Amino acid sequence: MERVLIVGAGPAGMATALFLAKKGIPSTLIDKATFPRDKICGDGLSGWVLHMLDKLDESWGEELVQDHSFSDHQSGGLGSWGIRFYAPNGKSITLPYLSKYNPEQPPGIVMRRKEFDYFLYHKVKNTDAIEMIEGTEITDFKNDGDKIVLTKRHNTTRQNTTPTRYTGKIAVFADGARSKFAQQLSGIQKDDHHHATGIRTYYKSVTIDPESTVDNPVEFYFLRSVLPGYLWIFPLPGGFANVGIGIRTDVMKKKKIHLKSELARCIREDPQLKKRLGGAKQTGPVEAWDLPLGSKKRKLSGNRCLLVGDAASLVDPFTGEGIGNALNSGMHAAEQISEAIRLNRFDEEFLKGYDKRIYDKLWNEFRISTMIQKLVASPRLFNWVMNRATRNQSLQNTFIRMIDDVDARKLLQKPWFYMKILLGISNI
Ligand SMILES: Cc1cc2nc3c(=O)[nH]c(=O)nc-3n(C[C@H](O)[C@H](O)[C@H](O)COP(=O)(O)OP(=O)(O)OC[C@H]3O[C@@H](n4cnc5c(N)ncnc54)[C@H](O)[C@@H]3O)c2cc1C
Repeated sequence: MERVLIVGAGPAGMATALFLAKKGIPSTLIDKATFPRDKICGDGLSGWVLHMLDKLDESWGEELVQDHSFSDHQSGGLGSWGIRFYAPNGKSITLPYLSKYNPEQPPGIVMRRKEFDYFLYHKVKNTDAIEMIEGTEITDFKNDGDKIVLTKRHNTTRQNTTPTRYTGKIAVFADGARSKFAQQLSGIQKDDHHHATGIRTYYKSVTIDPESTVDNPVEFYFLRSVLPGYLWIFPLPGGFANVGIGIRTDVMKKKKIHLKSELARCIREDPQLKKRLGGAKQTGPVEAWDLPLGSKKRKLSGNRCLLVGDAASLVDPFTGEGIGNALNSGMHAAEQISEAIRLNRFDEEFLKGYDKRIYDKLWNEFRISTMIQKLVASPRLFNWVMNRATRNQSLQNTFIRMIDDVDARKLLQKPWFYMKILLGISNI
């Protein structure tokens, strides 16, 4: 059987290859980097990520929280049991996760992306059906009769240049947030209103928050200056933490926010952050990368090709999470390709079925997250809801349900929900 070509070995590309292998379909996975390689990220692996990994192998979630010998510092993932939200007025609540998927595993994990991607890379390397090619940047593609041709151009010392070609019946582009193929294939352009910019760095010896009622919560600080974005502290093993800010790009440009300076200012001036990070030591540079948000539908397929992960703009518009959707899109791509092979249909019309699979699964959540992103832009509303939530256990329970249940989040759209909060009605 001819190999499926996959460009990019982040979570989306590796999941596509692994799900294809489970169906007995061989692939060639090509990445411009050599592994282990880093990826700028918050390093948060939600329950959705762990659920998708379970679909590949139920033991992997547990393996993630073990120490990994391929790193030079204490490594592996740290189990997280909940979320802590800080409102613009400094009020906070802790919401424990409901462990909806696998009760044997922590409901969430924080793990450096260099290690998480290397973990998946090892799984890929141990899978016979996957041929992994590293250090190779694909620069172009074209349809050529009944084939798709990917090109890598070597610049040689001589006058001529030697192109290297990979041919197959179908290609999957998993080349991330700055995908050149997304533009070429479906005209996906950067649209600042549906795009966020994120920065992150690492700290060591972060002070533990004595008020937290769950172990290792991921913390979201909704500071007035970066709304509807937020600053995060995600705890890592060994007293390290990933600290960053994510904000919609049009807001960042309009407010003329320089993210790096803003992060330093918040840590210096915000009373909560001063307590947590004042005595901590920054251990890495502040680095930035893009988050293409799923708040707008895009064309995700074409003749003989599909887009997955960030290349398909599948990042949650409120939380900024993209790893779970990257893995999920890899699974759907594998299903569509399996059907395409069975029916020998690689044309644009048939592959549109992939777009439908993706948006049938994710569009409802993207719509609701976009709505929440707009709501949290108002610090007054946020402070008001938070003031009530700190005193109302029923409201806290509703928020706990909302973490896992997309439909429960729809309550935030209903005026009567706010009326009940206002009246202090306990049954929300
Ligand atoms: C600051 C920040 C914080 C974030 N925090 C979180 C978080 O806590 N949790 C979460 O779930 N998500 C988070 N995200 C989003 C998450 O990082 C992405 O959604 C995720 O990495 C998408 O995976 P991917 O496989 O699509 O792309 P990537 O992980 O970007 O992988 C793309 C791969 O393609 C390769 N490549 C690119 N171009 C080529 C080419 N031409 N030829 C060959 N190879 C190529 C690259 O080397 C890379 O290995 C965050 C993002 C940012 C920027």
